[in-house]
Amino acid sequence: MRTRILLSFVAAFVAMIATTGDSLAQSQRTLAEARRITGDNFTVSARTPKGANVIAVRQPSAAMLTAIDRGLTDLFAVARKNGYTRRLTYPEYTVYIANADRTKDSAGTYSPDIAVGAAQYAGTEYDKGGYIYAAGMVIGFNPMSFVIAEHTQNLNRVSDVVRYEGEHLVLYYNDRRRYAETADHSRGGGHPILN
Ligand SMILES: [Zn+2]
Repeated sequence: MRTRILLSFVAAFVAMIATTGDSLAQSQRTLAEARRITGDNFTVSARTPKGANVIAVRQPSAAMLTAIDRGLTDLFAVARKNGYTRRLTYPEYTVYIANADRTKDSAGTYSPDIAVGAAQYAGTEYDKGGYIYAAGMVIGFNPMSFVIAEHTQNLNRVSDVVRYEGEHLVLYYNDRRRYAETADHSRGGGHPILN
């Protein structure tokens, strides 16, 4: 009896280690993806006041962190409005903050963006010669992760980008068909997807 209890305890423990190791490996894959896409080193991890995970190139400002929370709050509200209920908690999200590859758009407006390989956008109006500028980009679904550029002003834009990238993740887990229809903006369509 005692042995059986001990064995089931050991089994549970091993399962726990396996799960932890698994999610650790997945987080590391996502980190590697963030590095590959941005060319940046992510050395700082932080948490927003509401518990979302942040991995950044340097210590994010308090304003950045609350702007991320605001974006997620907006995302969860509009998701619920659309009848989606899965994956709507702050700790399930990881936001990577990368160095901005530009801080102004072609019109001269403050717009910190990251340059990413053109891939499916090659030859479209977005293509700047092998790469495109993006406000944000989904880099993993487990854990749910996306990358945005560091902002020092216009923090409302951070909230918007968080909400917009989050739309892809919410759709992935709540409405796979709608996710597939809206994931690739090279064929048209943008944000917001959810209204
Ligand atoms: Zn998008």
